[in-house]
Amino acid sequence: MPLTGNYGSIVWYNSPDEVNRLKALSHEALRDELVAAFPDCLGKVNKVLGFASFPLKRQHAQDYVKPGVVLVGDAAHMINPLAGQGVNIGLLDAAALGEVLIDAAKKGLEIGDLAVLKRYEKLRRNENLKMMTVMDIFYRVFSNEVLPVKFIRNLGLGLAERILPAKNKVMRSAMGLEGNLPKLAKGERIV
Ligand SMILES: Cc1cc2nc3c(=O)[nH]c(=O)nc-3n(C[C@H](O)[C@H](O)[C@H](O)COP(=O)(O)OP(=O)(O)OC[C@H]3O[C@@H](n4cnc5c(N)ncnc54)[C@H](O)[C@@H]3O)c2cc1C
Repeated sequence: MPLTGNYGSIVWYNSPDEVNRLKALSHEALRDELVAAFPDCLGKVNKVLGFASFPLKRQHAQDYVKPGVVLVGDAAHMINPLAGQGVNIGLLDAAALGEVLIDAAKKGLEIGDLAVLKRYEKLRRNENLKMMTVMDIFYRVFSNEVLPVKFIRNLGLGLAERILPAKNKVMRSAMGLEGNLPKLAKGERIV
């Protein structure tokens, strides 16, 4: 990600062992590893000013809501970044919450009431769980080099490529166009 001036922030995914090895390096040695690992289009890296690491792990809140409190986006769920769905599902949360709150306000209900907020949780928690589970399955299947798993994976991919409705369904799901969508995500007015 570009920052101001000639600064930038780089995210480097790696195995825990490799991350531990990289973390033990000096700033200069880490710079050399970066330059070797990233494509030339990254540009010239003069200096590494600092670095930090954190584990990528799946997390899902048991409850999205309490009276007067709502969890939205990554505060409610952390998904494998494999398919770039994190922002999408957070935006769908926001759209669903907006819809629920506007609807409640129109009916003269107290928007912070648990019964109102639970409607948001009902709309989003299962949908997010589905997406998280599908991403985990993709990750496990695609990072697996065991021959039978590879065979079934390639067979499945070949079939999905040939069967147009299946392909469309997968693509629409990845684009956030399938499932129980909030009105805003379907282009419908909520006010
Ligand atoms: C390595 C990696 C790669 C990813 N790649 C993709 C991708 O390609 N596509 C995609 O869609 N998603 C991707 N994601 C996921 C995506 O980054 C998140 O889903 C998204 O940023 C979540 O947005 P958010 O607003 O819910 O939370 P955040 O982006 O985490 O925003 C929360 C903000 O709140 C601030 N904050 C925290 N505590 C406080 C406090 N007490 N007071 C005030 N402010 C506070 C934080 O500083 C932060 O700015 C990736 C994630 C990771 C880790």
